[in-house]
Amino acid sequence: MIPVHAFEGKEIAVFGLGRSGIATAKALMAGGARVCAWDDNENARKAAEAAGVPLVDLNRRDWQTFAALVLSPGIPLRFPEPHRFVRMAQMLGVPVIGDMELFARAVNDLKEIDRPRIVGITGTNGKSTVTALIGHILKANGKDVRVGGNIGVGVLDLERLHGAAIYVLELSSYQLDLAESLRCDVAVMLNLSPDHLSRHGGMDGYVSAKRRIFRNQGPDDIAIVGVDDTRSGVMATQLSCEGLRRVIPVSAEYGLGRGVAVLDGMLQDSLSGRAEPPVDISTARALPGRHNHQNVAAAYAACRALGLEPSDIIAAILTFPGLPHRLETIGAIEGVRFINDSKATNAQAAEQAIRAFPNAWWIVGGRPKEEGIDDLAPLFGQIRKAYLIGESTEAFARALGDKLEHVKCRTLDAAVEAAFNDARASGEANPVVLFSPACASFDQFRDFEQRGNAFRQEAAKLVKRRTPTEPA
Ligand code: ADP
Repeated sequence: MIPVHAFEGKEIAVFGLGRSGIATAKALMAGGARVCAWDDNENARKAAEAAGVPLVDLNRRDWQTFAALVLSPGIPLRFPEPHRFVRMAQMLGVPVIGDMELFARAVNDLKEIDRPRIVGITGTNGKSTVTALIGHILKANGKDVRVGGNIGVGVLDLERLHGAAIYVLELSSYQLDLAESLRCDVAVMLNLSPDHLSRHGGMDGYVSAKRRIFRNQGPDDIAIVGVDDTRSGVMATQLSCEGLRRVIPVSAEYGLGRGVAVLDGMLQDSLSGRAEPPVDISTARALPGRHNHQNVAAAYAACRALGLEPSDIIAAILTFPGLPHRLETIGAIEGVRFINDSKATNAQAAEQAIRAFPNAWWIVGGRPKEEGIDDLAPLFGQIRKAYLIGESTEAFARALGDKLEHVKCRTLDAAVEAAFNDARASGEANPVVLFSPACASFDQFRDFEQRGNAFRQEAAKLVKRRTPTEPA
């Protein structure tokens, strides 16, 4: 745990007691703050109490004495409308911050020699992959690395700060909104496409939240920016024009005069302005598809920025085991391969999956995002058939119309069975059932992990049903 002393002797409200909320409360208590913690959900309160976190009903409390409100990133700050506690805090001039801000203050309090290095990663898609990949490369090269934030462990639950450590942090737009003084030695912004728009009041709000990852950077710090979509390309240009930090563009689409590109599986390092001989990374089994090549380019650039040698970085990229629920091959039954891409919660992520596995039997649906799947229309010809599940079933059936054959399965078990039967009956070589939902999971599942595990279990049931039982 990382104790936070910034509020020593002061009273501080913590609202939202998920895993990171509890870690936040404990880190503040360890640093001598008087914590008043609350959650509207009774189970969350019970879990916090069991963990030794003092509960105070913030609905009945005088707020004048609070030095800050620490908000869980899941709670609306501005849009669709601020949570009532955010309003209350703003009315009384109580700063509203997140756990990442507490981490930043703990780091900023250190002497320069004790300051760890911080690598922040954001973007619409690929954050977790790049965060895990950078963590893997650094670990493989003997660095004292801690990986957390929006992935796995909350930042304040990571091991204590010291000068030789490197913190690799996945940063969501919500977390960035609540972190004023975080300074990343290396900040990575991968790509931008519409997502979570209702929480940011539109695309402009979303883009400016992402841009906050570069706040507070100075001339020794490095900004790595994916330039394959127009908005990110514009951001890279703006940052370069500002001249406040070094900007490194990365791409999986274009060769770059000075940057890192991965084209047709070949990594091209031109960081020095001179093109080094290209290196083949196409054998990195856990990183299929062009989108993953963008992730590789970004992770490579980040590790170069941290001083690693090119050959050491490449060797580690090739041994990356991958993350569950991201284009994860979970097995094959009677020649039909099952790909679990439950983490694809928006159309852009599903687009990458469809490109990486053309001609698949595609299971799609859940709680739809505002932008739906209309943007995928040009790819419908590359999909064999769609199996619709979840709340989006009717809307997606309309979107597919007569452009793509589809069936309304509604539940995942029905979809897995139907897709498997069709894929097997096709008689094609190497058929793939691709679960890449392009939707949030909350209509039928707790989160994308539970949804991906359910897919795995449904596939396992098919195996069981097909294994003849031994005679007694
Ligand atoms: P995030 O943490 O940003 O949600 P993940 O690394 O968990 O990203 O990947 C989520 C999904 O997004 C993956 O299943 C994949 O289909 C897609 N994806 C991953 N990297 C990229 C990328 N660089 N560009 C576009 N889509 C991507």
